[in-house]
Amino acid sequence: MNAQKFEKIIFLDRDGVINEDPIGDYVKTWEDFRFIPGALDALQELTGAGFKTVIISSQAGIGDRVYSEQALNDITDKMLAECKKNGVVIRNVYYCLHGKNADCDCRKPKTGLFEQAEREMRFDRNNTFFIGDKFTDVEAGNRFGLRCLFVLTGHGQNDRQKFNQTHKPERIFPSIAEAARYVLGQAGK
Ligand SMILES: [Mg+2]
Ligand SMILES: [Zn+2]
Repeated sequence: MNAQKFEKIIFLDRDGVINEDPIGDYVKTWEDFRFIPGALDALQELTGAGFKTVIISSQAGIGDRVYSEQALNDITDKMLAECKKNGVVIRNVYYCLHGKNADCDCRKPKTGLFEQAEREMRFDRNNTFFIGDKFTDVEAGNRFGLRCLFVLTGHGQNDRQKFNQTHKPERIFPSIAEAARYVLGQAGK
């Protein structure tokens, strides 16, 4: 298959990777949303190198009725506006809106959101990165056949202890800034 026909995308988890994860709580309003230092710059560099960002995020607070879908849409709109203002191209945002115990097919470590993405764009699983901060991100990414990078922001410090022979990331980085630099260095290899 001709590699040119694939889109150059990068999957990113949201909370704990792009913005601070209010651990034990949720990002319920735009006021709760804080970009992790260096995240916008990292996204900008990825955009500059031709990567389109695709966000894969579980927002169980919707299903568990902690905040409304309208509130989430408002957060997404403002996040996208902020990204655009900084020259960042977000190709798409996929959310799982089911509650934590809903047993849906899209909450990570399930791969439903990635499958949805694959129906809408062509990419090479084996050469596409996914950056996450939770063990379940790595589990989902590995199952789907992506190259998983792990960051120590968000749940990272805690979840790094959960890795095992089956599920471990390709590399671990302090934050999205270093992970993005690695991705840029790997591009074309
Ligand atoms: Mg996260
Ligand atoms: Zn779901």
